[in-house]
Amino acid sequence: MTKYKVSNIGLLLSLILVVMAYLKYDYKALVLLVPLFAFYILLLVSGSSSIRFNFYLKSLKRAHTNKKIISLTFDDGPDAVVTQQILQILKNYNIPAAFFCVGEKIEKNPDLLREVYGDGHIVGNHSYSHSKIFDLRSTKNMVKEIEITNKIIEQTIGKKPTLFRPPFGVTNPLLAKAIKRTGVISMGWSLRSWDTNGKIDSVVERLRRKVHPGDIILFHDNRTNTVEILNRLLPYLFDNGYQVIALDKLLKINPYAED
Ligand SMILES: [Zn+2]
Repeated sequence: MTKYKVSNIGLLLSLILVVMAYLKYDYKALVLLVPLFAFYILLLVSGSSSIRFNFYLKSLKRAHTNKKIISLTFDDGPDAVVTQQILQILKNYNIPAAFFCVGEKIEKNPDLLREVYGDGHIVGNHSYSHSKIFDLRSTKNMVKEIEITNKIIEQTIGKKPTLFRPPFGVTNPLLAKAIKRTGVISMGWSLRSWDTNGKIDSVVERLRRKVHPGDIILFHDNRTNTVEILNRLLPYLFDNGYQVIALDKLLKINPYAED
């Protein structure tokens, strides 16, 4: 069930109850609305908490396959130091990845973005500002962030991305509208690396335990830990028969607009 359907059903039920209550002049019936609204609010809040729930909008999160194929994605770059190091690791292992880049950072490092693309990796849109309050913005503002970043990417590498990953993976109905309006594909993940939490041993151990065929793993290319994590995770994956393939091949999608 989509987020919209759930929200609409909640709203509809509430309205019906209000009408019934007024028709009977029985205001006690309004009491029924309290738990109903509480449930409705809970649905909205839990739905906006993470892209993994696919509540407000449909995000691509994984491939449904039994084959041991996975894709790597890197958010929040390009970063002058870490992105370079990650490109080197990917080169060493001869594997492709997808980079969801922040418009503001591309403007500071356009050559780095060209290098990412030149190395054969996919470039996706991760908003212009990566604002902490991105999900509180208006649809108009979100549309602007998506469009301006697509434009920057197109001016830098000559390709317009179709893939957008919302900052912090937070989704809500306004963002769902912005995604529909801009025609981008909302890109989620199935396995979060937690490379942001600092404890490399536990991050690597957890990833080894959790990885499954068809996974899309979320990393960050602005964290020094990510380099070490990859160096310890990748040999394990290959020893266990995993193949790292490009995100567009895993999901059978086109990462850039045709025109
Ligand atoms: Zn991010």
